[in-house]
Amino acid sequence: MDRTRGTEESWRLTLQHSPIGMGLVDLDGRILVVNRALCDMLGYEPEQLRSKRVQDITHPDDIVASTTLLKQAVAGEIDSLRLRKRYLRADGTVLWADMSSAPVRHEDGTILHFVTQFLDITEQHASEARLAVANRALECERRTLEAIFDTVDVGLLLLGRDGSYQRMNRRHAETMSLQYPEGHDGRAGQPGAVYGPDGRTPLPREQLPSYRAMQGEEFDDVRVWVGSDPANRAAFSVSARRVRDHEGEVTGSALAYKEITDLLRALRVKEQFLASVSHELRTPLTVVLAHLELLVENEDLPPSIQPQLHAIERNALRLGSLVGDLLQVAQALEAGLELQRTDVDLVALLGETVETWRAKVDASGLTLRCETPPRMFASVDRQRLRQVVDHLVSNAVKYTGRGGTITLGLQGDADHLRLCVSDTGMGIDEAEREHVFAWFVRGDEAARRLISGTGIGLHIVRTIVAAHGGEVTVDSTPGEGSTFHVTLPLAPLAGIGE
Ligand code: ADP
Repeated sequence: MDRTRGTEESWRLTLQHSPIGMGLVDLDGRILVVNRALCDMLGYEPEQLRSKRVQDITHPDDIVASTTLLKQAVAGEIDSLRLRKRYLRADGTVLWADMSSAPVRHEDGTILHFVTQFLDITEQHASEARLAVANRALECERRTLEAIFDTVDVGLLLLGRDGSYQRMNRRHAETMSLQYPEGHDGRAGQPGAVYGPDGRTPLPREQLPSYRAMQGEEFDDVRVWVGSDPANRAAFSVSARRVRDHEGEVTGSALAYKEITDLLRALRVKEQFLASVSHELRTPLTVVLAHLELLVENEDLPPSIQPQLHAIERNALRLGSLVGDLLQVAQALEAGLELQRTDVDLVALLGETVETWRAKVDASGLTLRCETPPRMFASVDRQRLRQVVDHLVSNAVKYTGRGGTITLGLQGDADHLRLCVSDTGMGIDEAEREHVFAWFVRGDEAARRLISGTGIGLHIVRTIVAAHGGEVTVDSTPGEGSTFHVTLPLAPLAGIGE
């Protein structure tokens, strides 16, 4: 008997001090005994809970499931009850708990009451709910990205760190057969029908965009032609970026292939058109000029028509120089510029330019100054460099109003020479500054003021300077003036003098 009482006492102590909510519930759901943990979980005092039935503290949405289980247990259909359900705390908030209940029976097998455990999982449930929301958002984003990945008109390829093809979109899959008509082994760097920017030279493995990306290179606008049939090759502009994981470790590379076949074909047509138009214009113009010269020199003609003849001659010469500019652009595009370098005294070259422009500068009410050392030699193409200076001075004259000043400067150090042409003219808007070197680009202000021009001069300047390995830039303040800087690397002199 003492042993039984001892056991009951240990049970009572276990029940009271268990960190898990526990209670005894009768067959109707009345709460008979509760422990401290259950009271704390639900926010009631023990006597308050003991006056309730389980149904009273169950969330209305879970009452049916809960009573159904209880009935099944009472009817002996199940041995024990387990349910994840909601309870209502004293303050009306919801408690999520894992409830498990087992019957305590009489010796004859009938059920006396149920021992019930309540495990508070409110926090766990809330984080599960948050996780589910986050997962849904992620899944939604994944599907959106997937749709974009397959819809964009740019081929996308993902490489693993070892160069294995991990994923590609539909667009890239379509072009794979062009590059690899015999099939592909799924690794970057497989030689195929891939050609360089000229559309003819097969690319060696080291220059294939996928191989370069596999080596960890990042690049933009690498142009390749693909396809074994020369008549049907397609051109792509390829970009690559490294892909990193959340710790910044490189896990591979992503490549984008944008098709630019139409663009390159259109550019080629434009270049051919430019070349043929300028060739075609030159021949009749030469004939016109030759006949004009004869007319101007013909003393039998009345002097009164001389002004008209001179006007025709001036404009025909201007047309001739425009056609010459166009031809030069066309030739540079076709074959690149070939320089005839000699050792040139640049100070003398600037002096000649100043002399040529003197009359025009005076007539325009401008001042032209030269700030140069006594002599400075460089190995350059004399004629081309003269063209550069001439053109920059011509612009300075055109775009500077009366009373303005134009300054030619020349400086040099061991490696470079710097030539600048400054004016105090109308200046160039910041937004236009980087575009004025592109061909056929004219400034808005120049067009608005009806200052004549074609927009190719600065393009020719840049082409010639680039052929010398140098660069040309412009600083300008609208309304105050512009300075064009030409920087040329000093090529070794062949011998002083020409
Ligand atoms: P063009 O003078 O025939 O228009 P350019 O290629 O020489 O062509 O110049 C392109 C544009 O750059 C000009 O239309 C003009 O807007 C601007 N520009 C060039 N030089 C100057 C300058 N010295 N001052 C102001 N604007 C200039």
